[in-house]
Amino acid sequence: SYLPGVDIRQVTKTPMLKAGLAAVVIFLIMTFLAFRFALVDMYRRRSETRLLRSKESLEQTVLERTSELRATNEALRAQIEERMKAESALKESEKRYRAVVEDMPVLICRFLPDGEITFVNKAYCEYFNKTSEELIGSSIFSQMPEDGGEIVKHNIASLTKENPIQSHEFQIYGAGREVRWMSWTDRIFFDENGQVTTYQSIGNDITRRKQVEMEREKLQSQLLRAQKMESVGRLAGGVAHDYNNMLGVISGYAELALDKLGPEDPLHADLTEIHTAAQRSANITRQLLAFARQQAIVPEVLDLNEAVEGVLKLLRHLLGEDIELSWLPAKGLWPVKMDPSQVDQILANLCVNARDAIADVGRISIETTMTTLDETYCRDHPGFESGDYVVLVVSDNGMGMDKEILSNIFEPFFTTKGVGKGTGLGLATVYGIVKQNGGFVNVYSEPGKGTTFRIYLSRHTSAIVGETRAAPESISKGTGQVVLVVEDELSLLKLTDKILRDLGYNVLLAESPSRALQLAAAQTGGIDLLLTDVIMPEMNGAELTAKLQTMFPKLKCIFMSGYTADVIAHHGILDRSVSFIQKPYSRMDLASKVRAVMG
Ligand code: ADP
Ligand code: MG
Repeated sequence: SYLPGVDIRQVTKTPMLKAGLAAVVIFLIMTFLAFRFALVDMYRRRSETRLLRSKESLEQTVLERTSELRATNEALRAQIEERMKAESALKESEKRYRAVVEDMPVLICRFLPDGEITFVNKAYCEYFNKTSEELIGSSIFSQMPEDGGEIVKHNIASLTKENPIQSHEFQIYGAGREVRWMSWTDRIFFDENGQVTTYQSIGNDITRRKQVEMEREKLQSQLLRAQKMESVGRLAGGVAHDYNNMLGVISGYAELALDKLGPEDPLHADLTEIHTAAQRSANITRQLLAFARQQAIVPEVLDLNEAVEGVLKLLRHLLGEDIELSWLPAKGLWPVKMDPSQVDQILANLCVNARDAIADVGRISIETTMTTLDETYCRDHPGFESGDYVVLVVSDNGMGMDKEILSNIFEPFFTTKGVGKGTGLGLATVYGIVKQNGGFVNVYSEPGKGTTFRIYLSRHTSAIVGETRAAPESISKGTGQVVLVVEDELSLLKLTDKILRDLGYNVLLAESPSRALQLAAAQTGGIDLLLTDVIMPEMNGAELTAKLQTMFPKLKCIFMSGYTADVIAHHGILDRSVSFIQKPYSRMDLASKVRAVMG
């Protein structure tokens, strides 16, 4: 039954009722159905809307998620790209650094604490003349030549955490190569537990620098010596100049006095002693001046062999009989240009030293040779200059010298001889003379073996050998010629006056160049000879001569000097065409010089 409380069979009993009932039922059914449909429809619609809505939100979510994912993806891709870039950059940089390390001119190697080499660069391989395959895996301690391994061990032992880098300099020997100086910088590496992982050594070849340093030191000491010699020389030269004048006065007056006394006079012997002593002192001042390179010299082109032969007899006499003197001249010796008296001075000094070095019996040899020093030789021997040289060699088999003495022998006043025996000026003089002539001295000596001095003198190229020295002549007198004497040292002026008057000359005296010019201007009868000092206040001898020669064009002239300072020093020497007399001069010297110049 569809409707509760209604019995269908009763309803159908009456047709009307039945119809009405049916209609009601149908209506009810219809209504019910309609209602149900509406309800269903409403539900459906509602759920449809809901569905639609949820679908929409789902779609939204999916969309959102997708874009999120896309962004993440993007970011990831960017990250990956970045990482890849970084990786390749790292690779590139490593390659570059490796190239730097490989191509570096310094030696680089890394090794484990047990010495096993783990890395070497190109320079390292080249230096030890091995391949990297040979080196890597081998032990650094046995790889290093000589005691290099021990040095490495010693050096790395001092490396600590606090002090992880240290440098050392030492010599090593490259495989089959010469000694090299290396500077090594060692570094230690630790892991996070503080355990030593590796060592690294970087080596720098500093041989060239070392050589330069040593050369510089050598030059420095040479310069120092030269400066010292120069200043002592200046001092000695200054003193010697004044002494020289005084000695000239002493010996000059002694000569004049001697002339007035007969040999039988009791004063004669005394005066002779004075004269000899003054002469000896003059020799010392001459040495000082030679050493100071202030000696006026008159160089001439000469054959050194002849110059040596000229003094051999004297030397033999000087050396005595217990010393055998041998003379070994070179054939066809090149000429040199120097003052022959300087050759005598050199030989006398060297031979006397050699004699003193020989206890009783011994040998001295004098030898001449020729040699050409090239650039390479001069580079290895600082102080030498390339060129052709004539060498004078003086050797002895005496006691020789140790290094200490050797380094001092050219010092003025350095002597190992007792008081009164040595002056310490001999070799300083030799040095001065040789320098003045642009030469060099070389010494070789060993204690107990003997000594060899080599004097290098520049070869003279225009080969005209000068005339030999004039033999001393008998005293030559004047015949009333007028001589103008200019000298600022008054006692010397007076002495010269006396000598010249005695010799028969008419003398005009001037103590200064201006006075000389005054006298010359007042002199009507002419002047035959000017005898002038070289170095004077106001003007020098050369300038005075030039001025006077404008008044007296035929004026002859003699320069006198104890040394060459300023003017002469600039030229080094006097021209040979200029007449020159060395102070102090004897009466004989002056007489013959004046005579020779006046003709
Ligand atoms: P002096 O002879 O007055 O001592 P030198 O300048 O001539 O001065 O010599 C200086 C020093 O050089 C000498 O004292 C000597 O010690 C040393 N000497 C020079 N020549 C020789 C030589 N041939 N053998 C050994 N020593 C020498
Ligand atoms: Mg000496």
